[in-house]
Amino acid sequence: MIISVASGKGGTGKTLVATSLALSLGNTCRVQLLDCDVEEPNDHLFIRPVITDRETVCIPVPKVDYNRCTFCGDCARICAYKAIAVVPKSVLVFDQLCHGCGACSYLCPEKAITEEGHEIGVVESGRANGIAFVQGRLTVGEAMATPVIRRVKTRIDHAATAILDVSPGTSCPVVEAVRDSDYCLLVTEPTPFGLHDLELAVLTVKQLGIPCGVIVNRAVPGEDMVQSYCSRENIPVLLEIPLDRDIARLYSNGQTLAEGMPQWQDRFKDVYTSITRSRT
Ligand code: SF4
Ligand code: SF4
Repeated sequence: MIISVASGKGGTGKTLVATSLALSLGNTCRVQLLDCDVEEPNDHLFIRPVITDRETVCIPVPKVDYNRCTFCGDCARICAYKAIAVVPKSVLVFDQLCHGCGACSYLCPEKAITEEGHEIGVVESGRANGIAFVQGRLTVGEAMATPVIRRVKTRIDHAATAILDVSPGTSCPVVEAVRDSDYCLLVTEPTPFGLHDLELAVLTVKQLGIPCGVIVNRAVPGEDMVQSYCSRENIPVLLEIPLDRDIARLYSNGQTLAEGMPQWQDRFKDVYTSITRSRT
């Protein structure tokens, strides 16, 4: 089963949930944690894995053969991403803008374009506390997160419970990471901003046809705007993590709830049970 952990906005505690869920399940079933937040992967800070494998991720970018090029400009005209420009006696390729779609090389009338690999990131894998771990890292300065996410997802172990930590928001990297999930856990906080961004995240996963449930982090008694919204939308609230100084201290010290407060492991296991029951 693939469970993605997402949030409409950053800073809601998504990493706390993803790592604690993985560690809580780790001694009862085969678990894999995949950090798909490739622009800022930080699960490793909490679970401290031993990395044993590292693979570079490249996308194909155009390379021009000036013995063939007539500077006709067709490649620049067809590039939807403005990643290639033709100036007198030169064709400029902007690697960071190129999506590696191959349209320019396919349509060049002189067959003057070949493709060469441009490294945009790495995928690393290893183990921590009995769970398998995979993370993607986008190279600083690169813009194309989705190919790295796709490569991370090729490592999904379909015999395991795969937990995907997804970037915050509702942009392309989120859609790329979440799609194909069996269930999406949406982590939010009980504030107007949290609720607003949760609504956007719910719309996104509904468009993708993925069932979802909500975890309210930093829950405060009486602040029930998220619960009211979920009730109206018939979305289950699977867990509430209170606004608590000890939990905040734990988190700031780089510890998960599952490790620092083992009594939470049963609550995360209950979340998993609710997810599996919702699918039967
Ligand atoms: S389409 Fe081909 S021939 Fe035309 S400018 Fe681009 S590389 Fe050169
Ligand atoms: S491969 Fe696609 S995105 Fe890259 S320069 Fe060519 S047309 Fe543009």
